[in-house]
Amino acid sequence: MGKGTLVRALRERSPDIWVSVSATTRSPRPGEVDGVDYHFVSDDDFTHMIERGELLEWATVHGTHRYGTPRTPVDNALAAGKPSLLEIDLQGARQVKASMPEALYVFIEPPSMDELVRRLVGRGTEDDLERERRLRTAETEMAASKEFDRIIINDDLDTAVSQLEALVLDAR
Ligand code: 5GP
Repeated sequence: MGKGTLVRALRERSPDIWVSVSATTRSPRPGEVDGVDYHFVSDDDFTHMIERGELLEWATVHGTHRYGTPRTPVDNALAAGKPSLLEIDLQGARQVKASMPEALYVFIEPPSMDELVRRLVGRGTEDDLERERRLRTAETEMAASKEFDRIIINDDLDTAVSQLEALVLDAR
């Protein structure tokens, strides 16, 4: 289970935590639902969202697809005082930090590179090249973990979900 699994489990456990739904140019994996897991958009749509200033942050992740956080839902959730969570990459976190330094930044760390490889292969949704890219991103991100306020080791799912839930509820 990766970060996606962790966030999905948190959503189920804590419906009061608001979780941002990112826009992405990648295609849905089997079982992923548009508007729930992501807003799956075309390259052109994504470009328009950037041009219209609709994204709080965005980045090209793993050197392939673009991912970004729609700004209005975040503003609304914060204005309503909801505990809120963005699951974004390192580049995105750096951008959000520039405008929201008061937020809590949590690094989700895989138990080991070996385990990360095992999960990635087990999922079977990426080809060799894409897996290679994802592992390289993970190495870059691990090197930057010190930029974050907290680290959660994503080993046992229940433990990691409890830790994340406590941090999100505390940070509000
Ligand atoms: P996946 O394709 O596995 O769903 O996601 C790949 C990576 O994209 C995730 O590890 C996640 O951190 C990152 N990501 C997902 N949504 C966003 C977003 O809105 N902005 C940024 N910067 N990264 C995102």
